[in-house]
Amino acid sequence: MSVIQQTFQVQFSYNIQFTENLFNPANTLFIDFIRNYGSNTFRKKILFLIDEGVAIHHPALKSAIQNYFKNQDFVELASEILVLPGGEQVKNDPVYFEKTLEAIDQYGIDRHSFVAAIGGGAFLDMTGYASAVAHRGVKHIRIPTTVLSQNDSGVGVKNGVNYTGKKNFLGTFAPPVAVFNDTTFLRTLNERDWRSGIAEAVKVALIKDLTFFEWLEQNALALSARNEKAMYEHIFRCAELHVQHISSGDPFESGSARPLDFGHWAAHKLEYLTNFSIRHGEAVAIGIALDSVYSHLKGDLTLDELNRIIVLLQNLGFELYHPALGENDKINLWKGLNEFREHLGGQLTITLLKKLGKGEEVHEIDFDLVKKSVDWLANIAEQTLQKA
Ligand code: NAD
Repeated sequence: MSVIQQTFQVQFSYNIQFTENLFNPANTLFIDFIRNYGSNTFRKKILFLIDEGVAIHHPALKSAIQNYFKNQDFVELASEILVLPGGEQVKNDPVYFEKTLEAIDQYGIDRHSFVAAIGGGAFLDMTGYASAVAHRGVKHIRIPTTVLSQNDSGVGVKNGVNYTGKKNFLGTFAPPVAVFNDTTFLRTLNERDWRSGIAEAVKVALIKDLTFFEWLEQNALALSARNEKAMYEHIFRCAELHVQHISSGDPFESGSARPLDFGHWAAHKLEYLTNFSIRHGEAVAIGIALDSVYSHLKGDLTLDELNRIIVLLQNLGFELYHPALGENDKINLWKGLNEFREHLGGQLTITLLKKLGKGEEVHEIDFDLVKKSVDWLANIAEQTLQKA
């Protein structure tokens, strides 16, 4: 018997640039990136796709992009700028994935050309997936426009769409070539989308960084009152923690552990159970609260620590309970846990909290304790209602 052994490594590197007014002609960050990326022996092409929610609130964006690329002879802007729906709809309905592929084909975007997507986390997930599979991967540039996409999803390496009623069933690990976090987009977010992404910051602070958790405690009211300075500061730190985590261990998640999914097993199920009437970040806030109560009932987190988490989430303005959690004697939640296990593969690995700022991985979940945790949250919701 003979064996040919093969091993190789592929290096990835990309910058997350923080800026304002990205397509103002005076801001050359974007055009400089395109000019300096890769070879300049041929004319590069770039196709833009915009989340409809962004296009509606930024009606001058399309013409700003066209103007920005005028007279740049080293790059060819595709004659059409595609606008597709944003939100979970774009991940649920395959027609938008197909439209993106058709545009990549129609405008001749090859493996040395760029697809630049401007939008929220769902929009970037779908366009990132289409970019990763067209021609086995065209260059993808992300321009995240929501809090969640700027502090978490847009700066990482994953993409995906929903399939057979399961979140992110189809997707790849495909790092972008660049990320541009333009703070001006955040001003047009509605209250829910302004708030919901902060849940991902609470998540990463709880499992990794007590100092950041304390910063969030001190700034929770400012954040929920739309203080921009606090928002930008939190986005930077949260993005930094996510990026550091990705490069420090297992970027393409070949093991079973996914600490950044703390609070997510219940969140993903809840999004389906509520027919996506709650935002991903809102579901994550409930998921965090649930797993924090569980960590307390399990004997790890003290009551004082648990209360600090609950108060932080409440000060940020999150609801911590949804009736769908309790339906059918919580059996749907049990299904959610199994779906999460299938999605990860291998041994069930759930991140819980050892203490504030420190996660711990467990491989077994006591479902009776999950049920008690749900009741605990229902109780908090009841008490809050009585106080109001
Ligand atoms: P979203 O993408 O669903 O967007 C919410 C709404 O905001 C949409 O209606 C959108 O059109 C609108 N919108 C976007 N930008 C706007 C702006 N600047 N002004 C006004 N409206 C705007 O919400 P999200 O919280 O950004 O993303 C959630 C998605 O991210 C989920 O699908 C989740 O699964 C995914 N996610 C992915 C990863 C990853 O690693 N790939 C990580 C976390 C979450």
